[in-house]
Amino acid sequence: MNVLAVDIGGTNIKMSMVDSTGQTSAFKEIESGAKKGGQYLVDHLMEAIAETYSGFDAIGISTAGQVNSEEGSIIFANENFPGYTGMHVKALFEERFGVPVKVENDVNSAALGEKHFGAGQDFNDFLCLTYGTGIGGAIVIDSTVYKGMNGSAGEFGHMILHPDGLKCNCGCVGCYEMYGATTALVKNAMELNSKYINGRAIFEGLEQGDQQLEKVLNDWVLEVANGLVSLIHIFNPPAIIIGGGVMEQKKLVKAVSAKVQELVISSFTGVQIISATLGNKAGLLGAASLHLNK
Ligand SMILES: [Zn+2]
Repeated sequence: MNVLAVDIGGTNIKMSMVDSTGQTSAFKEIESGAKKGGQYLVDHLMEAIAETYSGFDAIGISTAGQVNSEEGSIIFANENFPGYTGMHVKALFEERFGVPVKVENDVNSAALGEKHFGAGQDFNDFLCLTYGTGIGGAIVIDSTVYKGMNGSAGEFGHMILHPDGLKCNCGCVGCYEMYGATTALVKNAMELNSKYINGRAIFEGLEQGDQQLEKVLNDWVLEVANGLVSLIHIFNPPAIIIGGGVMEQKKLVKAVSAKVQELVISSFTGVQIISATLGNKAGLLGAASLHLNK
């Protein structure tokens, strides 16, 4: 079976053909134009597909926003996607292309990608966290994503860890992602020196022996670990897969893992903290897996 996989983000849309072994081909990336509205996004995505691809048996779509995956509709999308909320993406694409279409939220798709083709292949149960602008999370139980009542389960970034702390975009105060996201690391590093504008600059600074920066990094590792420790105590998972920009640094994953093992209740220490392996292809492969592993 050949699946056309689509990964819709706020800035770009990625597309690829995926065969049943997870091999990708004919990768294409276009601007999403999400700001121009949901209808524009869907129309110009359909145009790009029709222009480039043929011979696919199904379409799997990973998308930003809260998704009703039974209906293949968008329950909620934020202000970066005006008019996308309420759109019946599955129905629109099935009508246009005449093949089965499945739709899943991007974070859940990435977790499914790791489950079927990446770091999660050996585990039936695991948690998946992505550290970027915020912290995305997914809960995989019995090889499927646990979704909760509204498809929103796994919002680990909004666990309240510092109730007297920083206000979060979600309206709560002291959320995990205000302290543990990559954005928080960069913000703290830039307070030391404005040249530390991203993960790469920070790692260069560490190589050059900036000791204050090392302290900033260690404090951040502790924040990341604190969130993970709480999750481990709740789920007692065999594995946690972590990914996102800076987490591609293996050293960092090791440091987080060591800190977690140090803090966690001793009977929970068997948990493995491992790196996501699919990088920015996780969403595409997860979208494909909606058809390939049913
Ligand atoms: Zn929050």
